[in-house]
Amino acid sequence: MSLISRKSIDEIFDVVRIDEVVSDYVHLKKRGVNLLGLCPFHNEKTPSFTVSPAKGIYKCFGCGAGGNAINFVMDVEHITYPEALRMLAGKYQVPIEEEFQSDKQKETQSKRESLYVLNEFANKFFQSQLKSGQGKLIGASYLKERNIHPENIEKFQLGYLSDEWSSFTEHATKAGYARNLLEESGLSIFKSERGIDRFRGRVMFPILSLSGKVLGFGGRILKKDVKAAKYLNSPESEVYNKSKVLYGIYWAKQSIVKEDNCLLVEGYTDVIGLHQKGIENVVASSGTALTHDQVRLIKRFTENLTVIYDGDQAGIKASLRGIDIILEYGLNVKVLALPEGEDPDSFSQKHDSDYLKEYIKNEAKDFVEFKIDLYNQSGKPDVIQKAQWIREVVASIAKIPDPLKRTVFIQSAAPKLEVDEKVLFAELDQQLNKKDKEELRQKKRPSFDEEMPPMEVMYPELAGAKVEAKSEVTLVEEELMRILLKYSEICIDVEIEEEGEDGQVEEKIFEVPMSEYLIHAMSEDDLEFTNESYKALYDKVLVLFEEGNHAFAKELLKDRDPNVTRLVAEILSDRHSLHAWEKRDVVVVKEEKKLQRILDQLIARFQLRHIELTVSEIQAKLKKEDLADEERIEAIKQFMMYDNLIKSLHKQLGREC
Ligand code: ZN
Repeated sequence: MSLISRKSIDEIFDVVRIDEVVSDYVHLKKRGVNLLGLCPFHNEKTPSFTVSPAKGIYKCFGCGAGGNAINFVMDVEHITYPEALRMLAGKYQVPIEEEFQSDKQKETQSKRESLYVLNEFANKFFQSQLKSGQGKLIGASYLKERNIHPENIEKFQLGYLSDEWSSFTEHATKAGYARNLLEESGLSIFKSERGIDRFRGRVMFPILSLSGKVLGFGGRILKKDVKAAKYLNSPESEVYNKSKVLYGIYWAKQSIVKEDNCLLVEGYTDVIGLHQKGIENVVASSGTALTHDQVRLIKRFTENLTVIYDGDQAGIKASLRGIDIILEYGLNVKVLALPEGEDPDSFSQKHDSDYLKEYIKNEAKDFVEFKIDLYNQSGKPDVIQKAQWIREVVASIAKIPDPLKRTVFIQSAAPKLEVDEKVLFAELDQQLNKKDKEELRQKKRPSFDEEMPPMEVMYPELAGAKVEAKSEVTLVEEELMRILLKYSEICIDVEIEEEGEDGQVEEKIFEVPMSEYLIHAMSEDDLEFTNESYKALYDKVLVLFEEGNHAFAKELLKDRDPNVTRLVAEILSDRHSLHAWEKRDVVVVKEEKKLQRILDQLIARFQLRHIELTVSEIQAKLKKEDLADEERIEAIKQFMMYDNLIKSLHKQLGREC
């Protein structure tokens, strides 16, 4: 994929209608000037999902999700920004113009694209091979034996490659695919001029991306006597990175969101087996222990993960390793042990859908319980062993970022481990200290200042978190930004003192666009946004302002950065209530005077905050004992001046001090 030109993006934004786009997914009803429906991003019974066709944005007052039409498609389809643009361009038949790229970009881009095309070509070939000759005889009968239904063979795009040396490589070469591409994709191996097929004699499972592109393959060998690995995966390539991929995510994503839980299994057939019983929120880490990237991928869809492991020793070890990573990301982990000798595939074949759903729901244990059970099963421990267990359980708990959750886990672990809570808390403290020191050593980025909400707060839908209480500074900045974006083009009357021809000072009234008034006031007093996101947004506003474009909201809603459009949508929609969202515009716009008063107050509060910072710096200076007399006097003068200013600002704000 190459870059979509600015012109094309503008054209897409011109024709896209948010209400039409959302209607493809959500049943919307008219409510005043807006449309209302049930939120597709969280479970709700009474609608709080609002679409404003006039503003071109959507907003859920339940979970905080919001943005423009592109953000909506990204979230609901779980696709990237360019993919969403392309999808909407398709829907509205806007031709896409590609932008110039450097040769290196072009090269990488076209290599990736060629790999996708080749993989898709191979996928089609393997699928067709399953339907005739050796494929039908061996491949299809294996799948039948495994009880995989024909409709799921279609759905999961299963295929077969014959055990001849190079049937695929020859087919692809004839179709014009170059040797280096075949090699890079891992589909062919060239030890001599004549390439051979890597996956010969195997049933093929294509591994799809979130949006359904073929990234690579897994192949299961069918001959019993060979020493080759049972399962073989595509090697790493420009498009396939096994630590970033989860098998089945393409088919599971919607269901994971709906169920608000993701089941994690080991193999391809486990995923398919559960799908056959109507359990679709399932993915497999396919051959690797769970990685950070995979956990992050899951976290985009849910906070809850249930690890289902085979009842064998290797399965247990692998899932124990995975659990600590999952905990680090703050996900809620449950672990489900299947009866000995069963894997999710075999187990799902023996039971009906209802039984399986109940079993998963009732038998999954939280991880502390699981870890303790595991130790208890290994016989009565001696003292040293027991100390080791306790340390391991606490080590896992220490990974959890949320202190409240940690406390709950410690409390529930104490009676099970037959130790006093205090002992566990002491151990926890020790482990946390160790962790802190390690993080310090790795010089991790410090967390945001309290007054600067982290991205999770700005975009609660990303973290699934509720909107947290914001500090006054943040609220002031938010309100200031809201007015700046929303009313930038409205003119307000400003009184300016001017010296007339007769030398008399008189007050004249000028009509000034709001944007100019605000930006002027901000720059005159060197006021800056403290919130990093607003600061960045304000920089973009200034660029537009200098270009003479005052339609800030309209322009910024078309920004290339989806985080910017989300933030703008968040600011444009009122967090407090639906009612207010509809009413507020009308009221404020009608009363320009009122708007101006709000503005002045906001600026005053803004100034106040900056001055208070300066004052505290002066105070700190005055506390220094080695301060020269002159400096001290100067500092005291400044202090008094600022103190007066603070008092007058407080008065302006109608506050007593
Ligand atoms: Zn919602």
